[in-house]
Amino acid sequence: MRVIVEGVKAIVKDSFDLIDNAFIKIEDGYFKEIKEDYSNSSGFLRYKAKGMLMIPGLINAHIHIGDSFFKDLGIGKSLKELFKPVNGLKHKLLSSTHENLIIKSMRSSMLNMLRCGITTFSDFREGGKRGIMMIKKAMNGLKIRAIILGRPDYYFDEDNVLKNNGMPEDRIREVNEILDVCDGIGLSGPNEYTDKAMRELSKLAKIKNKICAIHACEDKYSMDFSLKNFNQSEVERAIKNFEPDFIVHLTQARDDDIELVSKANIPIVCCPRANSILGLGFPPIIKMMRKGILIALGTDNVMLNSPDLFREMDYTSRILRALERDPSIVSSKDIFRMVTINSAKALKLDKEIGTIEEGKKADAIFIKINTKNLESIKDPINAIVHRVRPDDIQAVMINGDIVYGSLKTLA
Ligand SMILES: [Zn+2]
Repeated sequence: MRVIVEGVKAIVKDSFDLIDNAFIKIEDGYFKEIKEDYSNSSGFLRYKAKGMLMIPGLINAHIHIGDSFFKDLGIGKSLKELFKPVNGLKHKLLSSTHENLIIKSMRSSMLNMLRCGITTFSDFREGGKRGIMMIKKAMNGLKIRAIILGRPDYYFDEDNVLKNNGMPEDRIREVNEILDVCDGIGLSGPNEYTDKAMRELSKLAKIKNKICAIHACEDKYSMDFSLKNFNQSEVERAIKNFEPDFIVHLTQARDDDIELVSKANIPIVCCPRANSILGLGFPPIIKMMRKGILIALGTDNVMLNSPDLFREMDYTSRILRALERDPSIVSSKDIFRMVTINSAKALKLDKEIGTIEEGKKADAIFIKINTKNLESIKDPINAIVHRVRPDDIQAVMINGDIVYGSLKTLA
C-alpha cells in the first residue's frame, strides 16, 4: 500500500530533528520519503495529520508479559518472595492457573501496549516451549512486533549450580526446539545456571544467529551469592560464559562490573520502576552512560508495572535529576533515545526500526497536541518524556498500517 502522511509535525532521524510541516511517504510498510514541502501524492492514500505530532513507535526492551493475570498482588513483597525459581509466588501462580486465562491476560497487555504507543516489545518468556506457544496464541492476528526470548524450564538450585554440570540432554533438545520458534534466549540470571550450562545455551543460540540475554545484578542477595560462591560477580560470569547481546538491570552493579560491560560493549536494559517498587535501588544509569554504555528501558513485570513507556521515561528522568541533584544531568533526548533507537540497538533491530527515517519500517505514534493536556507545549521532546499520556494518542502505525485509533483521510 502507498500512503502519504500530510502536514504533520514529525520527530525524524536519530538526531530527533523536528520538521514542522512534514510530508511522509510510506510504501510497502517502509518510510520512503520525508520532505518538508508538498510533493505529488496522486495514487497514495492520504492521511491528513495537521495538529498531530508524529514520533517513532516506542520499543519496550524488557517485559514479562506472562504475569499479566495477577496485577499488583506482589506489591510490598521482595524479589525473592515473588520471582525466585521455582518457589516464588509467580511460579506458584503460573503453575496453578488455567492456560486460557494466562493467554487472555497476555493478549490484553499487548492491546494495552498498542494503546500506549508501543509497537515492539521484547518478552522474557518462561515455561519452555509451552510458554512460547502460549504467547504465539495470545498474539494471534495482532500486529504488534514481539521479540520472544525463551528459556528451558530448568534451573540449577543453589547446591547444584556449584557443581558445574551441563544441561540435561532432553533440555538441550528442548532449547533447540525453542530456538526454532523464537528470537533467542532470555535467562533468569547467572546464579541459576552453571558456567557449563551457560556456555551450552549460548552456543546453541549463536549457531542459529539468535539473541542471548540475561538478568544480572538486580539485588544484593544475588550479587553476594555470586561473589561468595564463584568468587566472580554475576556480570563477570554472564559475560564470560553466556556472551550476552544485552543484560537486564545492573541495579547493584559495582564499578568493576560497569567497566566490564563497557569494555565488552554490551547494551544494558534498565527497569527503574520495577527496581523501585521492589525496593532494590536505582540503576547507575549516569555512571554507565559516562562509560559509553548504551542504555535502553523496559517496563519489566506486568504484575508490578503498567507496560507504559511514557511513565517509565518520566519516572527515570525525574529520579536521575533528583538523585544527581542536577537538572541538566540528562536531556529529554537521552531519555527518549532509551525507548526508541537504543532499544532497537539492544535488540539488533536498529537497521529496521527505532526512528522515523527513510528505509526503515513505518512504525509511528500520532499524538494530538491540541488536547487540554498538551496545548501550549513549547518543546515536543520534553513533552514526550514528561507530559504525554496514552490518552493523548490519536493513532498508532505499524509497518504503515494504522493498528490503533484512526487518522482522517483525504480523497
Ligand atoms: Zn525481567
